Amino acid sequence: MKVCILGAGITGVTTAWFLAERGHDVTVVDREAKAASATSFANGCTLTPSHSKPWNDPSAPRQLLRALVSREPEFTIKWRTAGRELMSWGPRFLKACRRSVVDRNAVHGLNLALYSRALTLALADELELDSGAGPKNGALYAYDDDARFAADQHHADFLSRKGLNVEVLSGTECLFREPLLTRASAPPVGGIFVGDDVTMDCCAFTRELARVCAYELDVTFEFECEIKSLDAAGGRATMLKTSKGAITADVFVVCLGPWSGRFAATLGIDLPIYPARGYSMTVPVAQTEFAPRQALVDGENQALLTPLGNRLRVVAGVHFAGYNTNWSRDDFRPHHATLDKFCIAPSDGQESAYWACLRAMTPDGLPVVSQAPRPANLWFNTGHCYLGWTWGMGTAAILASLLDGEKPDQDPAPFRYRW
Ligand SMILES: Cc1cc2nc3c(=O)[nH]c(=O)nc-3n(C[C@H](O)[C@H](O)[C@H](O)COP(=O)(O)OP(=O)(O)OC[C@H]3O[C@@H](n4cnc5c(N)ncnc54)[C@H](O)[C@@H]3O)c2cc1C
Repeated sequence: MKVCILGAGITGVTTAWFLAERGHDVTVVDREAKAASATSFANGCTLTPSHSKPWNDPSAPRQLLRALVSREPEFTIKWRTAGRELMSWGPRFLKACRRSVVDRNAVHGLNLALYSRALTLALADELELDSGAGPKNGALYAYDDDARFAADQHHADFLSRKGLNVEVLSGTECLFREPLLTRASAPPVGGIFVGDDVTMDCCAFTRELARVCAYELDVTFEFECEIKSLDAAGGRATMLKTSKGAITADVFVVCLGPWSGRFAATLGIDLPIYPARGYSMTVPVAQTEFAPRQALVDGENQALLTPLGNRLRVVAGVHFAGYNTNWSRDDFRPHHATLDKFCIAPSDGQESAYWACLRAMTPDGLPVVSQAPRPANLWFNTGHCYLGWTWGMGTAAILASLLDGEKPDQDPAPFRYRW
């Protein structure tokens, strides 16, 4: 079958890999010059089953209300730019905040994360993919606030019951587990360590895999190629119109990350994916004492620190602010607060890199891996929220099985098109 994949982020490239391996003739189209140049570029780089709880939560409506008036840099809604999509997405998000829905979706998200993480590590090993600094195991969530620590212990219990390697630690135990914490003026009140999370460079992995796809499986990559529209006739998609001309295929797969909803809308399809902006800083750190041993979440500033060899990635912030990826120094206040707290500075003479990008948020926190409602040969592998690196290999494997009419290893029902 001739398959055209729209988008060359982690989801597009892993989809290309599985389909080309199965013998399909695959073309991947992206407007950027290289794979993983948008959301998959400088993300948090954690394969993180521990984080697979949806943002929906019975307390989320209260947080949303606070975000409406908040000037805090961690979580805000910017009405001026948020756009009309938020008006239809918001009520659907709130509807999925019922305890029964959240608990069910947390299990689906966790199962997918564990399945996907195993596939990612196995492929990196098999292909000897040079994904930057190599995998590092574990993530430590450190808390300066008793209430938040207590609240998150419910989630730790859930992860333990599901068989994950979870340890609830005292403040002093945290210092032994993570020496970087001794650089703060006070120890944390406690922490949760999850041994099953892994740190690995998403961008390096995606680009290496794209190279293998092109050279070993004859996948065609059309880069710097803007997608304009998809023509359909007789209930089937016929031709993708791009800035470099038309591409025909038997099947088209949408892997456009946060831009997927807008693309689906051009076909009259309701695909509620809202772009939730996040911010990362990449700090060059020569001395290892400036980097955590494992992924570290600083509960006080809601910031993730990921060690990537001689770089430290710091991620924070959720802004509902529409599709632009502009940023200001103010958006990086939590990042700088965390760096100051642990007395971390860039290596001599080097500068940190600043980056903003958009998470493709579905209202219920699960991705969409499914045939589209129409045309018949259009498929979705998108809506990976804040977990596209964690879920990417898994959803690509599911999609490849479904396309070939086979039963996937994971139940695809939770990820069907559902609006
Ligand atoms: C700050 C931040 C931190 C994150 N940290 C983590 C983490 O630690 N772990 C984790 O699992 N996930 C994390 N995520 C989420 C993860 O990065 C995303 O879910 C994942 O990268 C999405 O991949 P994708 O392939 O679906 O989308 P993308 O990587 O965005 O790929 C979509 C592609 O479509 C292309 N495209 C769009 N429109 C067009 C068009 N009209 N024509 C041509 N091409 C087009 C874009 O150029 C892009 O390359 C994070 C996200 C953010 C924002």
